[in-house]
Amino acid sequence: MRTAPAGAGRSINMAMSTRGIHALKQVGLDEEIMAMAIPLAGRTIHLVEGDLSFQPYGQKEEEVIYSVSRAELNKALITAAEKYEGVRFHFNERCTGVALRTGVVYVRDERTDHTRSIPLQQLIGTDGSASAVRTALLSAGRFDISQQYLDHGYKELTIPPGPGGTFMLAPNTLHIWPRGLYMLIALPNPDGSFTCTLFFPHEGEYSFSSLSTPEKVLDFFSHQFSDAVPLIPNLAEAFFANPTGNLVTVKCFPWHYQNSILLMGDAAHAIVPFFGQGMNCGFEDCTLLDECIEQYGPDWERIFEVFGKLRKENVDAIADMALTNYIEMRDRVTDPAFLLQAQAGLLLEQRYPDLFIPKYSMVSFHRLPYAEALRRADIQESILQQLCASITSVEEIDWPSADRLIKERLIKD
Ligand SMILES: Cc1cc2nc3c(=O)[nH]c(=O)nc-3n(C[C@H](O)[C@H](O)[C@H](O)COP(=O)(O)OP(=O)(O)OC[C@H]3O[C@@H](n4cnc5c(N)ncnc54)[C@H](O)[C@@H]3O)c2cc1C
Repeated sequence: MRTAPAGAGRSINMAMSTRGIHALKQVGLDEEIMAMAIPLAGRTIHLVEGDLSFQPYGQKEEEVIYSVSRAELNKALITAAEKYEGVRFHFNERCTGVALRTGVVYVRDERTDHTRSIPLQQLIGTDGSASAVRTALLSAGRFDISQQYLDHGYKELTIPPGPGGTFMLAPNTLHIWPRGLYMLIALPNPDGSFTCTLFFPHEGEYSFSSLSTPEKVLDFFSHQFSDAVPLIPNLAEAFFANPTGNLVTVKCFPWHYQNSILLMGDAAHAIVPFFGQGMNCGFEDCTLLDECIEQYGPDWERIFEVFGKLRKENVDAIADMALTNYIEMRDRVTDPAFLLQAQAGLLLEQRYPDLFIPKYSMVSFHRLPYAEALRRADIQESILQQLCASITSVEEIDWPSADRLIKERLIKD
């Protein structure tokens, strides 16, 4: 990928936050990656009528997420990894299977179609959400696996840079066009362009299958995303040329086989992208694996086992939070009750900074285990619901009740 042009239709940027940045720091790559990242301080909401509003992600200056180029990040990681002694990359080679008991991995050269078998000592399967290594673990027996496809898929579109590489929308923000059952989002790239992603039902009245002609696409976009339409050249052509992606949550366990195989990243736990955490979570896997190796090396079976035990409930928690966040992003961000609770949450954080941290901040700006973030977020949500149930503005918050609820329910560990 360092020599070939980037593939069309692949997500070309993604949101990176504290967990990912921490892992990069551990391998001395944070400064290089951050130098090409664009900070995003919040969400800009585009209403149907064209009005804009801004919702900050956090309330401290450093509470921003970063838009990074998927390709540049991958290239930097490959270049850094190959500097380590013993690391070799074999491109265009596909794992087609693993014989668990004999300890052999089969790899097909996609240019020659030749398959070779490689004896393995430790194999770490990071081959993504459709992992071939994971498929091999099925034959180990007592391997739990579930996959849940969303009824919604996604399609990427591009807003090119303006004259002289200028941004055609405000750059330091994630743009969202929330429309209840679906949404369009846009993230900036360093060259002044934006990658837009339409998250949309596969079937139904407004869906990938119903937008079947260029006229229907243009009519739909003009009504729903009118301010984006002039910014996306050849919209209808791009809509039909770019692939429609699926969104899947994969849960499986155990992630290891004896002392020889471990799954990590999307291969172990693919999640939907609505919390911007899939990659961050995969990087956090690396942080934990590193700790396990430090503590138990070279006992690989113990390393793999402890890694899975410590990590599983946390990735299940972010998988669930990512699903819930789709509804928040596409629908709740324009709901007055949600906005009131969000404002109240920021005030509670100011008043009890060690006890009350909004869910988005716990996930994106802290390294609190995801399961703990989910547990605390559920308690916080019920406190907010109680405090906001009969008020219409944050000035009316009953602070003595807030003090009592926080002390009763969110005792500092
Ligand atoms: C639309 C979308 C937007 C997203 N946005 C974000 C975001 O903003 N922030 C975020 O943190 N996460 C985001 N994610 C999630 C993120 O892309 C994934 O969590 C992350 O890429 C997982 O990394 P991985 O290395 O585990 O797997 P992958 O990135 O899928 O990499 C797997 C690698 O294995 C290779 N491979 C696959 N099969 C084989 C095989 N059989 N043999 C050999 N090699 C193989 C692939 O070519 C690839 O190089 C998004 C995902 C999607 C779909």
